[in-house]
Amino acid sequence: MKTNNPKITIAIDGYSGCGKSTTAKGVAQKLGYLYIDSGAMYRAVTLYFLRHNIPFDKENDQMLAALCDIHITFEVNPETRLPEVILNGEKVESSIRTPEVAANVSPVSVHPPVRHALVKLQQELGQGGGIVMDGRDIGTVVFPHAELKVFMSADVKIRALRRQAELADKGIIMTPDEILYNLENRDIIDSSRLEGPLKKAMDARVIDTSKITVAEQIEQVLIWANEVIHEKSSCL
Ligand code: C5P
Repeated sequence: MKTNNPKITIAIDGYSGCGKSTTAKGVAQKLGYLYIDSGAMYRAVTLYFLRHNIPFDKENDQMLAALCDIHITFEVNPETRLPEVILNGEKVESSIRTPEVAANVSPVSVHPPVRHALVKLQQELGQGGGIVMDGRDIGTVVFPHAELKVFMSADVKIRALRRQAELADKGIIMTPDEILYNLENRDIIDSSRLEGPLKKAMDARVIDTSKITVAEQIEQVLIWANEVIHEKSSCL
C-alpha cells in the first residue's frame, strides 16, 4: 500500500460471534491501519462494574460516579502487535473474555451514559482515519460518515460452534447450548435497546459468514476497501 493513499475509516458491525473481530484485525493488518475492538471497551466497563459491585439493572448514581473513575486505553501487545484494552492501567484482555463478563455485558451496554462515554472515546481514537473498528453501532452512531461500512451475520448455530472452539482454546469449556443462549440473548438485547441499537447502516455492505472462511471474509473486505481507497485517491 502506497503511503500517499488516503486513509479511510472502516466500520464493521454485526451479530455476536460472526467473525467481526477476526476480520477487522486481518484487514487492519493488511492495510497498516489501527484496529480497535469497541466490544472490549464495553466488556472493560462491565468488568469494573462487577468487581466494584456497581448495580446496572437501571441507571443510578453509583454507575454515573463509577464512569468518572473508569479510564480505558489501548496498548499494543508486542507479541501479537495488536492493541489490547487497558482498564485503569491494568491489562484486562483475558479477564474481559470470561463467561461472567459475556453474560453481563449487554445489560451494561444498554445504558445511555455508558454508551455516550465510550462513543466519545471511540470517535477520538478514530480521528484522522486509518482505522478499522468493529462493534454494533460503529457505522450508525460512532462513524456515520465512514467510507466503508460492513455488516456481518451468520447462522447462530454455526456462530455458537465457532465461539465454543475459540473459548476451548483459552481453556474455557462451555456447551454449545450455553453459548447459543448467550449469543441469542445478547443479540436480542443489543438489537432492541433504544440507544445505539445493533442495526445495519443503510449504506453498509453485507457479508454472511456462515459458509465462508476467515481468509475469504478478510479478502472480501479488502477488495471493498481497496475500491474505496482507489476511488478516493482518484478524486484528490
Ligand atoms: O464484540 P463483543 O461481542 O466483544 O461485544 C460485547 C458486547 O458489547 C456486545 O454484545 C454489546 O452488548 C456490547 N457492544 C455494544 N456496542 C459496541 C460494541 C459492543 O453495545 N459498539
